Amino acid sequence: MDEDRISVIRERYLHICDQIAEATIRSGRASGTVHLVTVTKSQPVEVVREAIAAGATLLGENYTEEAVSKINVIKENGLEWHMIGHVQSRKAELVVRYFDMLHSLDSIRLAGRLDKFCAEVGRTLPALVEVNVSGEESKFGLPAWDERHWPELEPVLEQILAFSHLGVCGLMTMPPFFDDPEQTRPFFRRMRRLQGYLIKHFPQGKWTELSMGTSADYIAAVEEGATIVRVGRSILGQRPVERLSEH
Ligand SMILES: *Cc1c(COP(=O)(O)O)cnc(C)c1O
Repeated sequence: MDEDRISVIRERYLHICDQIAEATIRSGRASGTVHLVTVTKSQPVEVVREAIAAGATLLGENYTEEAVSKINVIKENGLEWHMIGHVQSRKAELVVRYFDMLHSLDSIRLAGRLDKFCAEVGRTLPALVEVNVSGEESKFGLPAWDERHWPELEPVLEQILAFSHLGVCGLMTMPPFFDDPEQTRPFFRRMRRLQGYLIKHFPQGKWTELSMGTSADYIAAVEEGATIVRVGRSILGQRPVERLSEH
């Protein structure tokens, strides 16, 4: 590990923690109630180790197999691995075996596969339902951009909540990318309204967590109610190679 790089990462990590704490207080909540997931996708093991040395404990990965190969070599206590990318149903078993939490639960089919493997190994998987609040076609998630159609989410959520080995505890979204976070803010607000809608119409569910906000807009996300933000580049720098899809 490179000590200089660790101290650069530590400085950025602590700066972001400070920004989050201030935004949490501005949003009327107690500091320490918002969690920072450090997104290590596409970063080599070396950089992940540096991030851990710099203080990161919640690590976010997007690609199942890439993540599993890292998790297998990084055997440290006190870490939580979060799957934040789209999961193909045939990768469900790996998610159940290797991850502490899934942010991107986006279909009944995936929920069913996860539930089956969880039952086999005797665990519950904490999960967030991914929703698309922008209507962008490139984004995964249940369609939630048009508030008039929210009632149509109910039968889907009912089936997802029926799987007893999934601990659904909130929502996740990946809004469009803008350089100006003020342009993203309306999507965070829509997400917050959806949370309110679900609390009202699905009181049997737990909807406390909102995973939203990246390097570009995590401060606005926290101001709008995020309980988990997912930040990669602002902590670790540019990713070496961006993988577009997983096969
Ligand atoms: C890559 C990614 C992030 C982090 O994005 P940065 O711009 O590196 O902060 C957050 N969430 C998801 C789902 C991602 O794929």
